Amino acid sequence: MPEDVKLEGVTKIYNKSKKALENVSFEVPAGQFLVLLGPSGSGKTTLLRAIAGIERISGGSIAISGQYVATDFIHIPPNKRNLSMVFQDYALWPHLSVLDNVAFALKRHGLAKQECRNQAREMLDTVGLTPLADNYPSDLSGGEQQRVSLARALVAKSGLLLFDEPLSNLDADLRDRLRIEIATLSRAINATSVYITHDQSEAFALADIIGVLQGGKLVQIDTPENIYGAPATPFVARFTGLAGEIDVIVDQMISGSMALVVPLAGGMRPFYAKTKENINIGPGKVMIRPTALQLCAVSDDSCHTRAIIKDSAFRGHGYEHVVIMEDGTQLTNIFTQEKHHRGEAVGIIFHHHGSILFGNALSVDKEEVTAG
Ligand code: ADP
Ligand code: MG
Repeated sequence: MPEDVKLEGVTKIYNKSKKALENVSFEVPAGQFLVLLGPSGSGKTTLLRAIAGIERISGGSIAISGQYVATDFIHIPPNKRNLSMVFQDYALWPHLSVLDNVAFALKRHGLAKQECRNQAREMLDTVGLTPLADNYPSDLSGGEQQRVSLARALVAKSGLLLFDEPLSNLDADLRDRLRIEIATLSRAINATSVYITHDQSEAFALADIIGVLQGGKLVQIDTPENIYGAPATPFVARFTGLAGEIDVIVDQMISGSMALVVPLAGGMRPFYAKTKENINIGPGKVMIRPTALQLCAVSDDSCHTRAIIKDSAFRGHGYEHVVIMEDGTQLTNIFTQEKHHRGEAVGIIFHHHGSILFGNALSVDKEEVTAG
């Protein structure tokens, strides 16, 4: 059965002073795949280890399917929580064969040794490791070791799978293949997953839900589509892929979710940007997703600015460009189907759907509202 995981106000303080987690609350519904995304040092590993029970929390509570496993008074050890973990550094037993490493994970289920081995063999077959069953971890490549580690996590059919950056030590093509296996196999055994990474493309590829961590705080938790389309803060926007940022003056609110902005840089026309709330007329910043940008002819009336192609890379399914605007601002990751040459002058259209405005939110005076 997939587990439901609920954290309320989880805080972790190391050595009486270092706050690694601050008041983190979220819930992962049973069977969902949550990816926690954040830069190095943001508290990802601490959070995962707290859910696993390897780390004691300093405040708040963690419940797995309604049962408290960590509070001020309770600490259920890892082996008593219905979960399995995949580590960045594989963490296999060096003195056990591949088969026995996987079979070992079934030991606490009280099965006979032969039955453990039978089930381990089946799982090795599923992840394509049968030919390596009798090898030892030291004989294997990093990718093979991580595959063993994945088989070991899956074989116990725990209701909760925890992943600590399992792909970060692997080569790019291997990373893609194993990522697909993690995505399909974790869903096939009907587990809930919590997966941490600093890699936004990995997060978007895997997640049903993404949580973004910054300095030990959860700054946004939402669907990948909403994280991309409506990031809560400039940090979230930056950490999830921008083409660039444009300083603007907010000229006019068109509706509660759309504004007309005037770029501060010379030679740029006003354009429309999306916002989550009504914001004050005045200075602001527009975060530009690569999907907001379209190249056009310099003579095109609808283009908002001109730029020069600085770099152009063939990506198989099209071309990816870096351009420099007239004020020197650089925009990256612009994708086109047609080829452009370095040094070529182009026009750029800013579409509102990927232009996300941050300004000063209009604050409603609560006292005034209640008094009124
Ligand atoms: P991440 O996995 O996102 O890189 P960590 O959870 O490992 O982040 O660390 C979060 C913060 O807590 C960091 O500032 C780190 O230095 C600190 N930290 C982690 N583990 C310990 C520890 N055992 N003792 C003291 N500080 C720690
Ligand atoms: Mg870490």
